[in-house]
Amino acid sequence: MELNYICLTNIFWMAQVDGHTVKWYTEHKFKELFNFSCTCSAYKTDHGYCKHIKKVCDQRCGWIGLIDDQKAETINGKLVCPRCKEQVLPVGYGD
Ligand SMILES: [Zn+2]
Ligand SMILES: [Zn+2]
Repeated sequence: MELNYICLTNIFWMAQVDGHTVKWYTEHKFKELFNFSCTCSAYKTDHGYCKHIKKVCDQRCGWIGLIDDQKAETINGKLVCPRCKEQVLPVGYGD
């Protein structure tokens, strides 16, 4: 099993937009469904991407070591994402 790294923003990410909270989350293992949610009523009614999600979805880093050429960086002895310097998480492939 090869060990790889992903940015923490692949598991959980949050942003405030015009008084609403947009979240990216998964409650499952990596490779399963990931999704955005928003606290506004349009999101709850339409179950789709509201204007808040559309506004901030590009700000999420979402770095995945296996797909991107960049490798995780080491800063002060800690492995961090090469893009946003957020914490990274080890992910096993091939299991
Ligand atoms: Zn919204
Ligand atoms: Zn990142």
